[in-house]
Amino acid sequence: MANKDYYEVLGVSRDASDDEIKKAYRKLSKKYHPDINKAPDAEAKFKEVTEAYEVLGDKQKRANYDQYGSADGPQGFGGAGGGFGGGFDGGGFGFDDIFSSFFGGGQRQADPTAPQRGRDLQYEMNLKFEEAIFGKKTRIKYNREAECDTCKGSGAKPGTSPIKCTNCGGAGFVTVETNTPLGRMQSRQECPVCHGTGKEIKEKCPTCDGRGKVDERHEIDVTVPAGIEDGQQMRLQGQGDVGANGGPYGDLYIVFYVQPSKDFKRDGSTIYFDQPISFATAALGGTVKTKTVHGDVELTIPAGTQTGTTFKLKGKGAPKLRGNGNGDERVKVAITTPKSLNKSQKDALKAFAEASGEKPSSKGGNIFDKLKGKK
Ligand SMILES: [Zn+2]
Ligand SMILES: [Zn+2]
Repeated sequence: MANKDYYEVLGVSRDASDDEIKKAYRKLSKKYHPDINKAPDAEAKFKEVTEAYEVLGDKQKRANYDQYGSADGPQGFGGAGGGFGGGFDGGGFGFDDIFSSFFGGGQRQADPTAPQRGRDLQYEMNLKFEEAIFGKKTRIKYNREAECDTCKGSGAKPGTSPIKCTNCGGAGFVTVETNTPLGRMQSRQECPVCHGTGKEIKEKCPTCDGRGKVDERHEIDVTVPAGIEDGQQMRLQGQGDVGANGGPYGDLYIVFYVQPSKDFKRDGSTIYFDQPISFATAALGGTVKTKTVHGDVELTIPAGTQTGTTFKLKGKGAPKLRGNGNGDERVKVAITTPKSLNKSQKDALKAFAEASGEKPSSKGGNIFDKLKGKK
């Protein structure tokens, strides 16, 4: 797992922008979502994609990954000089790899009676622009497999217990010998009596019909963190499907989709706003009322401000997800040209033009009339 190239997993280049990464993740996570894609490797792919995005979608983790090959930075296993005495190449031995090489490789996985963690689930939540900034408390409902309350997951009728499977002796698999041109071959197959559970249920639980689990409409309270961004996700541990053989519940991933705002643009904790100002204000200076997500504020425009100038309103952006305080709002001003002028405005501007040494138009009109005539 740790050896996977996250950029390859998401199919993006190493210099991909945050946006490209987000888009690639969104596309792939939809494609491989186990609820949508029933291919046998879809779930593994989905996890891979999620893992890659958890790192590349986070500026700090991505920087660590680029530099050290691990999201945790130099202190992680992937870093140089981890505590393992130089036997490893530092190129990213995950803990799983080390663990399984100590304990005999993948054999634990092959034991069908071993506890298995439940499936992870995904929930998509749409947020209004402001909800993502300020967060909210909400309650969500979704379907999941839960442990059967009646039998507490055993699948046996209350008062009875499952017994060890008589066919496989509780192993969950049987060894089958077959004659092949190469000689007698042994292979392991799932026990047809207990279907790999190693247990036989004589009297089934009436609630779950021996499955040990039930489909439930699950409801939980969710606190959307203030400052969440489009495409980010939140993991709620243990809110996925129930595990098998007493294994833990999987997790729920809530993926957030944030609606755009008609007024603002947002990048992380920085919010962008375009503020129109009049030529007079730009030239003479003054104040304008400008919008922020925290309410309107007065913005001081210095005399001689050019169109395209950006002003920073400190602390008027979105909350920083990891850290204190808010980002800033950046207000970009654009000088608007009036589309129609009354007589005294025209006279004043003509006088201004003359005072600036501009020649008045020969026909007695002014530049505004000319522009209008061209349209
Ligand atoms: Zn039951
Ligand atoms: Zn069996």
